[in-house]
Amino acid sequence: MVMISAFKNIRWEKVGEEILDIFFPRFCFGCKKEGVYICKDCELFLTENNLVCPICGEPSYSGKTDPDCSTKYTLDGLVSVWDYEAVIKKAIVSIKAENHYHAAEKLIERALANIILEQSRFVDFLEFLLDEGVEITFVPAHKKGKPSNLYQIEEKNHAEEIAKKLANMPKKNKEVVSLLEKVKETKKQSDLNREERLKNVKDAFEVKREKLPEKLILVDDVFTTGATMRECANKLKRGGVKKVWGFTLARTV
Ligand SMILES: [Zn+2]
Ligand SMILES: [Zn+2]
Repeated sequence: MVMISAFKNIRWEKVGEEILDIFFPRFCFGCKKEGVYICKDCELFLTENNLVCPICGEPSYSGKTDPDCSTKYTLDGLVSVWDYEAVIKKAIVSIKAENHYHAAEKLIERALANIILEQSRFVDFLEFLLDEGVEITFVPAHKKGKPSNLYQIEEKNHAEEIAKKLANMPKKNKEVVSLLEKVKETKKQSDLNREERLKNVKDAFEVKREKLPEKLILVDDVFTTGATMRECANKLKRGGVKKVWGFTLARTV
């Protein structure tokens, strides 16, 4: 419990949100009931993710990569907060489709509060997060200069938004650094099989800085097969990073 003091109070509700509610009425992502983003009934279907080794997918109590799976270029661990299903899946899909930032923010706060309340499970990750030498980066969603929407507006990067919230969590704010660049357009990973996914993300990212931090947290919204995160970790480690933990809101089970 000692670690709680290292984090700012994460408040669910802030003064003044009523004003926001007038402009952005909240509906439950699960059942569309008005009032909150996740209602009490749908909350029952939130499933905490059993942490796994990010390489083989076998259970790992704290999310650390198995010694047998660990190489110089692999992720050192992974924390995903929820199973990517039910109300969480609906929430993440609709936040992405509608660029609903307020809802995204609430979901991220909720995820972070979860991991602080469950310190024993997340202890390795939290210790890493509190390490002053650790910096935070994210998986870029789009190829630079190629907006994917009709209006030619560069979209916000959801992984970056999650990274910013995470960086803001310890008392001493961390910097979010943009280290990766997407250099190849990729197809939607969820439309592909395992083999196609590996091919799809192979060499899709490049490290855009020469000097890299020694320790990093790599953030994305969802961990599906992990092909994207493993590819990014590989590139970062080949660029000189010694230790990389992954963090996602949810993981496909
Ligand atoms: Zn509901
Ligand atoms: Zn493993």
